[in-house]
Amino acid sequence: MNPKINVRDYEPIVGKSYIEELRMLASRLSGKTILNINSTFIGGGVAEILSRAVPLLNQLGVDVRWQTISGEAQFFKVTKKLHNALHGKVEPISDNEFSLFRETTKNNLNQIDFSGDILFIHDPQPVALIADKRDIGRKWIWRCHIDISHPDSQVWKFLRQFVINYDAAVFSSPNFAQQLPIRQFFAPPSIDPLSDKNRELSPETVDAVLAKYGLNRDKPLILQVSRFDRLKDPLGVIKAFELVRKNFTCQLVLAGGTASDDPESGEVLEEIKERAGGNPDIHILDIPPGTDIDINALQRAAAIIMQKSLSEGFALTISEALWKAKPVVASAVGGIPLQVKNRLTGLLCHSVEGAAYALRQILANPDYGRWLGHNGREHVRQHFLIVREIRDYMLMFLTLEHNEDVIYL
Ligand code: UDP
Repeated sequence: MNPKINVRDYEPIVGKSYIEELRMLASRLSGKTILNINSTFIGGGVAEILSRAVPLLNQLGVDVRWQTISGEAQFFKVTKKLHNALHGKVEPISDNEFSLFRETTKNNLNQIDFSGDILFIHDPQPVALIADKRDIGRKWIWRCHIDISHPDSQVWKFLRQFVINYDAAVFSSPNFAQQLPIRQFFAPPSIDPLSDKNRELSPETVDAVLAKYGLNRDKPLILQVSRFDRLKDPLGVIKAFELVRKNFTCQLVLAGGTASDDPESGEVLEEIKERAGGNPDIHILDIPPGTDIDINALQRAAAIIMQKSLSEGFALTISEALWKAKPVVASAVGGIPLQVKNRLTGLLCHSVEGAAYALRQILANPDYGRWLGHNGREHVRQHFLIVREIRDYMLMFLTLEHNEDVIYL
């Protein structure tokens, strides 16, 4: 348990009654154990959420645990292909690769301690653990963090055979879901306003982080924070920046890193460096996972935050940016439109040129940017903070445990 987390610290942010309700729900789960399983403790949105939700639920008295599956690099190459294919990219996967996926699942079935009343399985990598449901028993929930509304059909057919054996599936939005013969719940992801990634930082801390990366605020800083992944369209960000840079003094920071379950990132980083071609106004930062204060400081230093993804899950980076009251320019894909209400909590774009146009609007009118950021912070407070997500999960656990649709507190 993380001793720094205290549920009372959220009261000034969401109000006392909200926290009281969390305590009531938690007390109803007493005696139950919930086991989360995903593929990595560090890197990417799922690990980000679990690293805060698990200790917070523990603090509320719920016995929530977290384990990861393990696999060889080759396994994660296959799961990366599955991930891309679920996002709709045509990605042929061979019989050998499917066999490797099953084989690794089998190894994990022998290694993981499955004690728990509810098995909460995140994303496709561990989805096939359900194969032993009959022996392991209890309630199984598949939490899909990806938009699988338009998947590659071969890959979805393969994964669906596992998914339909779960007791329930959870999607971030109805728009991300598939027709399934099992119960479905909807729960958007969330950010923790008190984590190192999002808590307030002093201007001195922000400046120290900028200095560490050889940056300063002489020119408005446009930032995209993302794993180095083609779906985040880093080359499109550079193109949009180059268009804007013709008329506006500004600098671009692409801050990224790698996740241990993402084997492509090194290659993509090289492509980005080559495309930037030594432009002194483009800064490419390879930031080790877990350097949360650095990411927080970069987001706070930014004049505009971009997320020009070609395809997305929820895009936690957007809530992170909005919580810091930053104007964002982001593609209208995945969960981004849930967070960015165009011209109210940020600007949506559909192309490189559209992104450049939106950047220019904000650079030319900083007051407009501040207004967007202010609205965005309020939108996140109401919908995308971690207290809301753990509330949704507790209600779901209770619903499943009691086989009821209505929970009486
Ligand atoms: N992130 C980070 N360092 C990086 C890149 C990303 O800490 O170099 C964090 C980012 O701040 C966010 C998460 O990783 O909290 C990414 O989540 P998101 O949903 O935006 O994208 P995903 O990586 O899951 O596709």
